[in-house]
Amino acid sequence: MNTFLFAWNPEKWDWTNLEQNIEELEKTGRVTQMWSCASHKSINIGDRAFLIKLGKGKRGIIGAGFVATSPFLSPHWSGSGKMVPRVIVDFEALLNPKEDSILSIDLLKQGKLNSQHWSTQASGISIKNEVTEELESVWFDFLTTQKIRFNPFKNSDSENQKTYTEGTPNQVRLTKYERNPYARKKCIEHFGLSCQVCKLNFEKTYGEIGKDFIHVHHISQIANIGKTYEVDPLKDLIPVCPNCHSMIHKRKKAYSIEEMRKIYLENKSSH
Ligand SMILES: [Zn+2]
Ligand SMILES: [Zn+2]
Repeated sequence: MNTFLFAWNPEKWDWTNLEQNIEELEKTGRVTQMWSCASHKSINIGDRAFLIKLGKGKRGIIGAGFVATSPFLSPHWSGSGKMVPRVIVDFEALLNPKEDSILSIDLLKQGKLNSQHWSTQASGISIKNEVTEELESVWFDFLTTQKIRFNPFKNSDSENQKTYTEGTPNQVRLTKYERNPYARKKCIEHFGLSCQVCKLNFEKTYGEIGKDFIHVHHISQIANIGKTYEVDPLKDLIPVCPNCHSMIHKRKKAYSIEEMRKIYLENKSSH
């Protein structure tokens, strides 16, 4: 997965329905927006997308999500008839710089982040790998510490809207939280890369190609908690292999890790 930076300058294009878009995101957990993409030759479905607001006033990151389509040509906003490459971005977080605090460009000029050129004229450029991890971590910290209207890392009813599918035997759908690179990293740093049900470790079993491979399962506690509850990568995420992950979701109310471990051990020993 690569990461791309999309740019919005309100002086060039007036995003008249931004507020409605945010409301839609709040209600349904997702909102899509077509965005022009300079690096259209290297972008792929599922790539990570960040949106920076440039121009006058507050500048900084106002949104993040994932690329939902391959690039396609569509008319330029100026009405000149020129065709430009675009993609559709599926946003998981979107802020209105007039209403919300945003991840200020000043914070993007510190440490490793400083090696990226943020005030880009072109939208849809690739973000360097060494910057990506730091950006994810700074963005995650921002979202979880600021009082923003819709925080994708808070449990809500829309948490159940799982948009992306991993090609596993049982088609386990990964939630936003399970796909978030920073939350994954935090969880894996704590628990390691072995399945917490069957202990399978992909690198030990498959060698080099299995390195760093694991699913993380979001232990959902939606029934017991209020909407204000924030997800904690160490308490609420756990590494599991895709097989155990599928079995955990075999029941509508997902099995707990303990339940699944018991099932696994009982059946394993009876063979
Ligand atoms: Zn397993
Ligand atoms: Zn799961």
